[in-house]
Amino acid sequence: MGAMRRKLVWVERQNFQGWVCTECAWVFNPAGPVVGQSIDEMKRLYEKQRDAEFTSHVCAQHPRATKNPS
Ligand SMILES: [Zn+2]
Repeated sequence: MGAMRRKLVWVERQNFQGWVCTECAWVFNPAGPVVGQSIDEMKRLYEKQRDAEFTSHVCAQHPRATKNPS
């Protein structure tokens, strides 16, 4: 069991901003509005969801579009 080198990072580009994986094309898409009783709780729930999605995604299933056979 080797440690994964992938990381969750925040990127901001002209037409996109969000959480992405450093090793593939995965991006975090929140399943829906986060409901919490406070900003703090919403933030916690958001981060929990984000981390869970990141941890469970498989890089091989999100290949980057570097090679695009046209
Ligand atoms: Zn990945």
